[in-house]
Amino acid sequence: MSRSSRLLDRARAVIPGGVNSPVRAFAAVGGDPPFIVRGEGAQLFDADDHAYLDLVGSWGALLLGHAHPAVVEAATEAISRGSSFGAPTEAEILLAEAIRDRVPSMERIRLCSSGTEATMHAIRLARGFTGRDRIVKMDGCYHGAHDAVLVAAGSGLATFAVPGSAGVPAAVAANTLVVPFNDEAAIEQVFREHGDQIAAILVEPVPGNMGTIVPNERYLHALREISHQYGALLIFDEVMCGFRVAPGGAQELYRVKPDLTCLGKIVGGGFPLAAFGGRREIMEKLSPLGPVYQAGTLSGNPVAVAAGLATLRLLDDALYERLEAIGQRLEDGLREPLAYHGWCMVRVGAMFTIYSRAEPPKDYVEVKECDTTAFATFHRAALHGGVYLPPSQFEAAFYSVAFEDDQVDHVIAALSAALVEANS
Ligand SMILES: *Cc1c(COP(=O)(O)O)cnc(C)c1O
Repeated sequence: MSRSSRLLDRARAVIPGGVNSPVRAFAAVGGDPPFIVRGEGAQLFDADDHAYLDLVGSWGALLLGHAHPAVVEAATEAISRGSSFGAPTEAEILLAEAIRDRVPSMERIRLCSSGTEATMHAIRLARGFTGRDRIVKMDGCYHGAHDAVLVAAGSGLATFAVPGSAGVPAAVAANTLVVPFNDEAAIEQVFREHGDQIAAILVEPVPGNMGTIVPNERYLHALREISHQYGALLIFDEVMCGFRVAPGGAQELYRVKPDLTCLGKIVGGGFPLAAFGGRREIMEKLSPLGPVYQAGTLSGNPVAVAAGLATLRLLDDALYERLEAIGQRLEDGLREPLAYHGWCMVRVGAMFTIYSRAEPPKDYVEVKECDTTAFATFHRAALHGGVYLPPSQFEAAFYSVAFEDDQVDHVIAALSAALVEANS
């Protein structure tokens, strides 16, 4: 029995399912998850001394790779001065300014501790600002694990959501309207029917939580126009795609200016830190200036802020050029084997998904047509080949700038071999 399997047994006796976040359990692909001991650059090492090239990167948080020296140094230096004060610090200003420099639509910014918190607070703020209760989200988009966004769509063009988890009150889910992604007609219809009750559209502008989806050319602009027309806010959840698909996130890449933006993952440099922000007159509705309550004991935690700031300072043009070169090399190397097996790869910046279908999906319905059994085989073979992929067809993969060319070539070889196994 491997050490990881023994650890999993022990974990299960004290932690439900042995994991502190469900997807880590490998339920969608089978097999036991490796227990991780350490990471270095593009590599992960598990409890059985296996090395993997990491295409999860803590679910997108690690654009610089594991244990980047500048981040380690900043966090170490910060913690030596105290781990938390629950009082304002200068570093919070520096981080907020660094965020605003890169994402100018975020005129005012609040720091919090997770992406879940960021979207939860942004939704309350949108409701408080507009005086409306309903929100619109897209089928297959994920915005964290709180009640308002844990809903699944029924069938049909635009549906009132039913709870996607036990424990979510139907009355809460009923305030969330769900439409398919990339479908302009559906968003127009939902606004025609309920426009005067809708506080906000909440969307992953580049969805990654159903697999990576490319937004249609006009779609994000259409969301901007229609929310404006009906007096609703447009909230971009860039927790995953922020700083990853472009220096200024999806809003820079597609030139759409949302009212509010949520950030997480990369912005904390691998620590629990997230942010939400946007137009000044909206953000100034927050307590203590306004009537919308929002708070957090560890918000703006000095160690997390130091790591986030050290990370953002390294995100320059040269870094994004290198990221693009890595992505291009990966795509070029996998093009033929993928086409041969009738699979495809969808990439936006440094996030991508390999789909067990020939055509890039446009929405969640199409993603669900994938062959998840073949994907499970693919995943297992990749793991044996030393490549750590997200353990589900419905997740994006992420690479960091730490990948060297020979490591990219190793990924290409291992994934090509995994494709053969998955399709034999
Ligand atoms: C990861 C993610 C979240 C939730 O962030 P947590 O830090 O896990 O709470 C929200 N939205 C998107 C788009 C995400 O990818």
